[in-house]
Amino acid sequence: MKKFKFNLSEEELKKRTSKTYLVTKKFLAPDAPEYLELEEGDKKALSHLVRAANIIEKINMQLDCHDNLDFLEFLKAEIKKGNKIAKLTKILFDAQKGMNATDTMSNKINLAKGIKELPGKGVYPKDLTKEEFHKILEEMIKDKKIDEVKKILTQRSVVERSGNHLVGIDYVDKFSKECGEIADELEKAAETSTNEDFNEYLILQAKALRTADPTFDAFADKKWASLQDTPLEFTITRENYEDEMTGTIMENPKLQKLLEKHGITPVAKDFLGGRVGIVNKKGTEALTAIKKYLPKLAENMPFNNEYEQNITQDAKQTMVDVDMVQAAGDVGAYRGGITLAENLPNDDKPSLLIGGGRRNVYHRQIRFISDKKKLQKRLDAILDKDQHKYYLDEADHWFTIGHENAHSLGPKKACEKLGKYRNIIEENKADMASLAFVDLLTELGMYSQEQRKQIIVTFVADNFLKSKPSLSQAHRVRTVMQNNYLAKKGAYKIIDGKIHVNIDKVVPAAKAMLDEIIRIQIEEDFNKADKYVKENFVWSDNMEFIAKKLQKVNKSLNGRLATKLADKLAKGYSL
Ligand SMILES: [Zn+2]
Repeated sequence: MKKFKFNLSEEELKKRTSKTYLVTKKFLAPDAPEYLELEEGDKKALSHLVRAANIIEKINMQLDCHDNLDFLEFLKAEIKKGNKIAKLTKILFDAQKGMNATDTMSNKINLAKGIKELPGKGVYPKDLTKEEFHKILEEMIKDKKIDEVKKILTQRSVVERSGNHLVGIDYVDKFSKECGEIADELEKAAETSTNEDFNEYLILQAKALRTADPTFDAFADKKWASLQDTPLEFTITRENYEDEMTGTIMENPKLQKLLEKHGITPVAKDFLGGRVGIVNKKGTEALTAIKKYLPKLAENMPFNNEYEQNITQDAKQTMVDVDMVQAAGDVGAYRGGITLAENLPNDDKPSLLIGGGRRNVYHRQIRFISDKKKLQKRLDAILDKDQHKYYLDEADHWFTIGHENAHSLGPKKACEKLGKYRNIIEENKADMASLAFVDLLTELGMYSQEQRKQIIVTFVADNFLKSKPSLSQAHRVRTVMQNNYLAKKGAYKIIDGKIHVNIDKVVPAAKAMLDEIIRIQIEEDFNKADKYVKENFVWSDNMEFIAKKLQKVNKSLNGRLATKLADKLAKGYSL
């Protein structure tokens, strides 16, 4: 067994695993009415789905870091011996779902000495530098190894060394044992689950896990995205925020031109998650209110005569609110935060080319606020007292609905050429479109005047972070950029040490920023994106001032999931 040295001291671990510093999000428990009310067949199916999700986690751990699984084995052995540090370290390992993470203060947390996060995570060779990566690709193209290069630069391959060259192995081939096990579980779930459409999806998904062929994934994704009225929710989430290696090609114009000449578009690697839940009917009804406005929103996107819209008139967009049972792998990894919702498949996926739509899934238990007192303390510390009445946590959910749907608006392309800025700009677009349309949706009757103010004030107050992020934290970088932009446009001021929102200036500011974003997505010019991000990603004195106050009120450094129902259903199938 591989040996490791622990990186955090017992004192540090005790602090980081205590209630104040590690928040817990509670997923459904075995006695949850949502579970007890399910039909027997769906209950049985649910246990297979949880097992499938847990196996996905095992794959993702390997994509995330070369040493994750060895370290987990080491931890378990040390815990057996009674090692206290191992026990505490494992709490963080389970929360982060891996050895390396970034906490809410943007500190890098490494659980073992000498093992750090790599730009290529676990999907590129450990010792491969950006320079060597580019050099090898150039050589391989010179040697006419075009198909081989294509395999290296897809979103679904692990890259390994092969002599002096590199080779890309499709996830399904690389993890054929695990993928087969997941497929088995999905097929078993399809035997008892009560919904035919859902079962059809499970069978298609199982097929896509048995043969390494993106076409099968496209069929599965297309069916998945059409699911609206099913009792259960299951998703293999595939997002590519973590890979910081593939995108470096866009910083090398010579190599990029060479690839373009051969029709190769490098796509960042997918990281995998398994989401299992029970669809909440009432919550879902509330969500779908926005659906009828989507064509109108598409009409109002900036420069919309210059591109094909992401969303068509018949708006193939489904959306469900889900009571969470399991979030395994990438989707469940707490690394300073965890996602409230996802709109999948992303623009790089082939299902969108065969007429497939997209589906939003909202994570109910993630958005629930457990500590209202703490929230009040936060408002007291940072927000103008006269505007407290407009702060509403529910308004954040309405904003998120706008955000997720906005991912389906705008130019229909994946913008790979924007490299490391691609995700920052896409998230920036979703936020600013959500905000830019608040007035229009109020006019159209979706929001009341009161709700309009609540969304605006809540957004601006939540746009202040506890610490300055690093450039690789796409989600947080765009928050800083927006904050700066709003300040520039006079959308808020700091008065007597508190944020005062100039409510009527927020939506026009968002519209102006959205114009700039869409322009960049249309032009797909790396240098322009670089300039735009650098101009706006400035940590101001006001941000630092509010951050200090936030740090005092909210001490949490990370979070974790409590998945009692999933743990019971998985029975020994967990990692
Ligand atoms: Zn988003």
